[in-house]
Amino acid sequence: MDDLLSLKQSFLAEIDTVSEIAELQQLKAKYTGRKGLVTAQMKALSSVPPQQKPAFGKAVNELRDFVDQTLDQKEILFRDVEKQKRLLSERIDITLPGKPCLPGKTHPLNKVLDEIKDIFVSMGFSIQEGPEIELDYYNFEALNIPKHHPARDMQDTFYVSDDVVLRTHTSPVQVRVMEKKKPPLKIIAPGKVYRCDADVSHTPMFHQVEGLMVDTDVSFSDLKGVLGLFIHSFFGDETPVRFRPSYFPFTEPSAEVDIGCIFCAGKGCRVCKTTGWLEVMGCGMVNPKVFEMSGYNPDEFTGFAFGMGVERLTMLKYAIDDIRLFYENDLRFLRQF
Ligand SMILES: [Zn+2]
Repeated sequence: MDDLLSLKQSFLAEIDTVSEIAELQQLKAKYTGRKGLVTAQMKALSSVPPQQKPAFGKAVNELRDFVDQTLDQKEILFRDVEKQKRLLSERIDITLPGKPCLPGKTHPLNKVLDEIKDIFVSMGFSIQEGPEIELDYYNFEALNIPKHHPARDMQDTFYVSDDVVLRTHTSPVQVRVMEKKKPPLKIIAPGKVYRCDADVSHTPMFHQVEGLMVDTDVSFSDLKGVLGLFIHSFFGDETPVRFRPSYFPFTEPSAEVDIGCIFCAGKGCRVCKTTGWLEVMGCGMVNPKVFEMSGYNPDEFTGFAFGMGVERLTMLKYAIDDIRLFYENDLRFLRQF
């Protein structure tokens, strides 16, 4: 029994000096391992006199349990300390601000294009599309602009080949629709068009919305009614509108549509060149020759057509003075819409 007591005291003295898990394992081997000191005492039980056996056996078992439990507790303590150390050394500074993810927005031109479409769709027009790479025939000839016609000088055309062009306007869509469908027709054709031109108010690619209405009794009054309603919906009910005689090969009579200058309220300024009016679109009654080429009988049907530049309308609506801003993708500009 004295041996057991001194064994316990030497164990307690040794465990106090232990500072890491590896040493704990050595200590475990030394006391309760297969050749350990406590294990040796258990083996010595057989040589103990019979009357002392129960007390001695109980004391040895208690000592073995005490050693194991003490070692286990110490190990838990050591692992905890190690974990704390690791957490400290692997600490991440989560206070650094993240990189912001900016939400996308509709481009101002698409926003205005959507608005234009909505207004005409509400008046019963349907939306039609056509190819951007177009035959010379649809872009010019079927619109009463034959080869060598002086009106071709009005447009700086990108030619792909002698007979193929990048469309200079969305008007060819009218012809394509008229070839396939019989009146009544009420369509708009929005899309990209191309002209060899670049300055503060022109880009080589821009957007147009072309419109066409054909029926048996369409008159210039219908034209004025539809376009007047469009302008009042788009620029506001109080906007003055006037129709000024003009010339286009595919319409007769033709007109330019002007609105009262929104920058000077008609008083005259630099933007309206002191006239008090701003040109916003071209229009007219469809030329009977265009009907003939599309297979419509000009004695039976009448119609009107109009065309507007989306960039120009957007610039007027938001008072933007340089068309190139639309295509530079400067977020400081785009975020304002
Ligand atoms: Zn003005």
